[in-house]
Amino acid sequence: MFRISQYMRELAHAEKTGHYPEAVHARRGSGGAPGPVVIWNLIRRCNLTCKHCYALSADHDYEGELSTSEVFGVMDDLKDYRVPVLILSGGEPLMRPDIFEIAERAKAMKFYTGLSTNGTLIDEAMADRVAATGFDYVGISLDGLRETHDHFRRLEGAFERSLAAVRHLHARSVKVGLRFTMTAMNAHDLPALLDLMRAEQVDKFYFSHLNYAGRGNIHRGKDAQFQATRNALDMLFERAWQAALEGREEDYVTGNNDADGPYLSQWVRARMPQWEAPLRERLVAWGGNSSGVNVANIDNLGSVHPDTMWWHHDLGNVRQRPFSAIWSDTSEPLMAGLKAHPRPVGGRCAQCHYFDLCGGNTRVRAQQLTGDAWAEDPGCYLRDDEIGLAAGSDASRVAVTPFRNARQTIRIVAGETHV
Ligand code: SF4
Repeated sequence: MFRISQYMRELAHAEKTGHYPEAVHARRGSGGAPGPVVIWNLIRRCNLTCKHCYALSADHDYEGELSTSEVFGVMDDLKDYRVPVLILSGGEPLMRPDIFEIAERAKAMKFYTGLSTNGTLIDEAMADRVAATGFDYVGISLDGLRETHDHFRRLEGAFERSLAAVRHLHARSVKVGLRFTMTAMNAHDLPALLDLMRAEQVDKFYFSHLNYAGRGNIHRGKDAQFQATRNALDMLFERAWQAALEGREEDYVTGNNDADGPYLSQWVRARMPQWEAPLRERLVAWGGNSSGVNVANIDNLGSVHPDTMWWHHDLGNVRQRPFSAIWSDTSEPLMAGLKAHPRPVGGRCAQCHYFDLCGGNTRVRAQQLTGDAWAEDPGCYLRDDEIGLAAGSDASRVAVTPFRNARQTIRIVAGETHV
């Protein structure tokens, strides 16, 4: 996760005082440091079938999911391993009958406990239960305004229900964030969604770049083009900067594209060049992509993955080995590479002068497009001349091609992809 607002607050402080805050050099997962943030897909069932769902969820039960007592056993191991944060997700986690039992135990064990939901099931009564459980944070997905969101979510009325959930939770003083995944189909709604965030006094805006997993991979041909991505980041940076100057308690964060760090560095160079060097130190300390290091995933069947986008790659299952043993096992080749510092990334990433900030970005996009997890990230939106390579050599880059498999045919008609 890239915390735009954190850096903007530091820059605002620097502008005001003439001093940039000290850099903190620490990477989690080594030397007695805390374990990873665990995103836990406790259930795969969902009442929606969204177009970009990485879990390919549907509204039916899935066999073999972890029982309550198995979940509790894993929680004990996670606590011993110093995991600080559990994000309870799905499918739709509120469809799991024991979700509040699990969340209450997580809170009692002093995990920072988040809930990642589509929000459509949160009426007044459900909001009471969420508030009483004491979730530290609830993330609700909104992919645009009414028409766009309902189209993405494939449910008429989904937007109104999710927005109502935001209001119900706010009324109960629950910290709420909006989660927005941008593609070419909804980029036009971003400004209005940011206005909605402010009007509703939402605490946090999570901007997710599209990653190529599940239905997000099937629809990768509709990923936002690089210029649209840059426009979106410009907008987020400006918003976060103004919020920092005005002292607003709004948080803007991004995920799934670590080129956002280098892009911020360029934004600062153009506006406040005196702070580029100390910001760079901060960004090096952040280190870019953290899949397999600071972020972990456990799926509904107990399989462990480097993050939620790697469901096609199992590291082991908590029914056979504790999470702590699976996570620290670098005999597994993908984990060895992800935990290496620097990572063994090739292509233009290896030559990029931002590699120490970005870490080579999101490995799953490289793997889905090329079959090689250590190829360049095709989702990087920086030009060659911006990353220290000869201008104009972008032509040799890995292209984002539409998804195909043996059972599907895809035809492109007037810019639309038909599966
Ligand atoms: S070229 Fe690679 S390392 Fe450089 S910013 Fe882009 S994704 Fe990151």
